[in-house]
Amino acid sequence: MKKITLFALFLSASVTMSAQEVQGPDGALKVTVSLEDGSPFYQVSYNGTLMLNSSPLGLKTSIGDFSTGLKSIGCQVQTTDETYSLPHAKVSRVHYLANELTCTYLKNNQDTLQIVFRVSNNDIAQIYRLASAKHGYCTINAETTGFHFPVQTTTFITPQAPAGSGWMGTKPSYEEEYTIDQPVGTPSKQKVGYTFPALFHLGNNGWVLLSETGVSSQYVGTRLSEGSSDGLYTIAFPQKGENGEASDTTATAALPLTTSWKTITVGKTLKPIVETTAAYDNVRPLYEPSQVYRPGRATWSWILWQDGSCNYKDQKTFIDLAASLHFEYILIDALWDKQIGYEHMPSLINYAKSKGVGVFLWYNSNGCWNNAPQGPKHHMDTAPARKKEMAWMKLLGVKGIKVDFFGGDKQATMKLYEDILTDANQYGLEVIFHGCTLPRGWERMYPNHISSEAALVSENLVFAQYHADREAQRSTLYPFIRNAFAAMDYGGVFFNKHFSKDGKNGSLRKTTDAFQIATSVLYQSGIQHFGITPNNLSEEPDFILDFIRKVPTVWDETRFIDGYPGKFCIIARRYGEHWYIAGTNATNKPMKLSIDLPWLAKQTVSMIHDNNARTASFSQATTDKSGKLSIEMLPMGGITIFTK
Ligand code: CA
Repeated sequence: MKKITLFALFLSASVTMSAQEVQGPDGALKVTVSLEDGSPFYQVSYNGTLMLNSSPLGLKTSIGDFSTGLKSIGCQVQTTDETYSLPHAKVSRVHYLANELTCTYLKNNQDTLQIVFRVSNNDIAQIYRLASAKHGYCTINAETTGFHFPVQTTTFITPQAPAGSGWMGTKPSYEEEYTIDQPVGTPSKQKVGYTFPALFHLGNNGWVLLSETGVSSQYVGTRLSEGSSDGLYTIAFPQKGENGEASDTTATAALPLTTSWKTITVGKTLKPIVETTAAYDNVRPLYEPSQVYRPGRATWSWILWQDGSCNYKDQKTFIDLAASLHFEYILIDALWDKQIGYEHMPSLINYAKSKGVGVFLWYNSNGCWNNAPQGPKHHMDTAPARKKEMAWMKLLGVKGIKVDFFGGDKQATMKLYEDILTDANQYGLEVIFHGCTLPRGWERMYPNHISSEAALVSENLVFAQYHADREAQRSTLYPFIRNAFAAMDYGGVFFNKHFSKDGKNGSLRKTTDAFQIATSVLYQSGIQHFGITPNNLSEEPDFILDFIRKVPTVWDETRFIDGYPGKFCIIARRYGEHWYIAGTNATNKPMKLSIDLPWLAKQTVSMIHDNNARTASFSQATTDKSGKLSIEMLPMGGITIFTK
């Protein structure tokens, strides 16, 4: 069980000032809030350097415009000090210490807006609280919150997709390509803004990661607008066409209400970005887990054997594969309802059980929000159908579901996510979302949320050579952006030379085998799906198979070692007493590095590294007295260092 302690300390009396400051516990990160002609603004500095210029705040609502005409009635500062556990994430225990500034503003002498900033050493979390003496509920039509970067800032961001675009109208689903190191204000591919998380490079002054957390059925998932040429990005709401054009783009809730949290992670280096827990610090579990939910690894026939493999015989083969790799799970993907049939599922699930392998079943979220034809359909979109299906799964001993093809970020869709998670908990099911939104604090809010896709993931390696050519590059983006913020179900680790069943046709894999091993550590997902196929069991050396048989999917600790988004990435993770350090090289040149592992000084470590055949070799090395270790990665290669 999670142990939560929360205590707040009241530090200063209410004061009425036009500008108010709050800084993180170590004094480096500072937020200044001001009211100018009735409109609220804030700015952010780090070690005295301005990271965000004066940026707008406020809400536009059905009970008034709270971005203007405000009167300050006081500010308070208090301290939040909490230690909490995360059973399925990149870190297992977090000590969150932050100073909180709450500024209260009066509108029309009756309604109040509170603007809250919580500032820890490297993270800012901002939320609005709205209260009214007169109104019982209200609709938030817009947030006027902005992020005004210095003009020389460059961006590492993903465009939002137009509603109803993509395959069978399934977008937006957070499966767009990052643009790398572009000037602020560069128009996005689709001209409809950007999705969270979003990374900004302020040259020598450091890095900022923007994101959002705490989105439940009570709010919408927001995003960033197109940027202005002078570096201003503002909060945007869902597009009208999302969710099959049904339901509102706005958020309606009972008063008093709170919005989602917007998070701003700030660092001189990328260390605070890689190690941030901003998604989790200010959210709370919305229910107790009905049981212990086990993380683990899964075989997945669909990724290389595709649709045709979702039959009884092939699934049995992948259950056997999972058993021989000591994996906890198998994912049976789309079309099992037709190609296996409900009547044959009990014996297949029993077979998996006899091999010690838990079963995840794929479902279509539809519904009416897109034209995705894969079944099973219409089992997750209404409560009666969902509960009936989940009761059937519980009876058979199914361990979890993967639900795909959602409708966007409207409040109606956020409610569907919450309802699926809540019902699944009642039936003891873990949940993975695909074709979905960014999980915004969900690993903590919903204890059975185990992972989400929300990225341009491994299926694209199969779909097109264009993506296979960029596999290495993306491995050096996700750990600094998407996967730094939340679990990401990438579905990697391939040994077939081509991304196909026979390994001879289809797109060519450009990365090395050592690269593939490294991604099992570099990417974090409570359940990690592997692209391994049965032929790999006889084709791969024992040291690779032994590594895969043991590699964890959740971690006690995660540390940034080195890297630059789009070029290379090295991250260390700890599980119990075991350290795993993984690196990938996205450049077209071999990379020799000396990495610092001071906590492993003078220790002998194992390494799975590149060789000239672009497969993988195993060797051992000893770090020097300060913990330095020389490593080498081939172009589109990688390395994994681990302790016994
Ligand atoms: Ca997908």
